[in-house]
Amino acid sequence: MAQLQTVRGAVEVDDLGPTLMHEHVFVLTTEHVENYGVGTFWDEDERVADAVAKLTELAGKGIRTIVDPTVVGLGRDIPRIQRVAAQVPLHIVVATGVYTYGDLPFAWSQRGPGTMLGGPEPMVGDFTRDLTSGIADTGVKAAFLKCAVEHAPLSPGVERALRAVAQTSVATGAPITVHTSAAEQTGRIAVDVLREEGVDLTKVVLGHAGDSNDLDYLMALADTGAILGMDRFGVDVYNPTADRVATIAALAARGYDDRMVLSHDASCWIDWFGPDLRALQAAMTPNWHYGHISDDVLPALREAGLTDEQLDQLLVVTPRRYFS
Ligand SMILES: [Zn+2]
Repeated sequence: MAQLQTVRGAVEVDDLGPTLMHEHVFVLTTEHVENYGVGTFWDEDERVADAVAKLTELAGKGIRTIVDPTVVGLGRDIPRIQRVAAQVPLHIVVATGVYTYGDLPFAWSQRGPGTMLGGPEPMVGDFTRDLTSGIADTGVKAAFLKCAVEHAPLSPGVERALRAVAQTSVATGAPITVHTSAAEQTGRIAVDVLREEGVDLTKVVLGHAGDSNDLDYLMALADTGAILGMDRFGVDVYNPTADRVATIAALAARGYDDRMVLSHDASCWIDWFGPDLRALQAAMTPNWHYGHISDDVLPALREAGLTDEQLDQLLVVTPRRYFS
């Protein structure tokens, strides 16, 4: 029986249960929080308690696992996640990788390939350490890799990140989630580079594919074996729930029900929005929270014709296969 790593240690893949494949706990600009947030907008105890309450409520809806792709660039802080994980009745799976739409952080961009001293790709070493030895001194191991391809064509930094993620996956067998842009159809670029690096595409989630209703684009991606991340339920400004549901139903009817996973890309706290934008965002996307899929989307998918077996495939079977 295959095992995978969670924040609280290794579990059997059979124990994952209903899984949301792309949820953040916190999305933070860490240096900004440390320099401007502490003593003003950021109260660590309050935020941890809030996360515990929200995730406990989610677990009460029958979700057993969240997969959190918060990596460097999104404020990964494993001790903070450990505090939350210790108090909630669900598994939290964490990632390694880097999130950038352009340049790499200097600690990576100034070392390795293309730099004055050259040498091996330092990200591969760092990502591998997170997967095999653990993250910093926490003892928590990452279970998957994450990077982002927001724009076409690839910037040099994004290409290095994508290839480093690919090479780490090939060396370790760890699965991958790539943030993609439906508007720029960057899933195509991600798949091309990952395939070129020899990645097993059945172990790849193309994140945010569900922002698109273009069946030709989505089927072209799924035909490579990759999994479509139908993972921004509640972000109606990109694609309303009714359209996301109709697209999943159309793909399921065409036999792609084994290549889709569900999520919201929600978080307990994200510091990308100030107080004004936070209020506007809450008004514009009232369903962008962890409970939307359980409360609204699953009934809507049933209404659209999906069977319980197909819903189980989306929530349980494909996540289990991805981590096996
Ligand atoms: Zn995300």
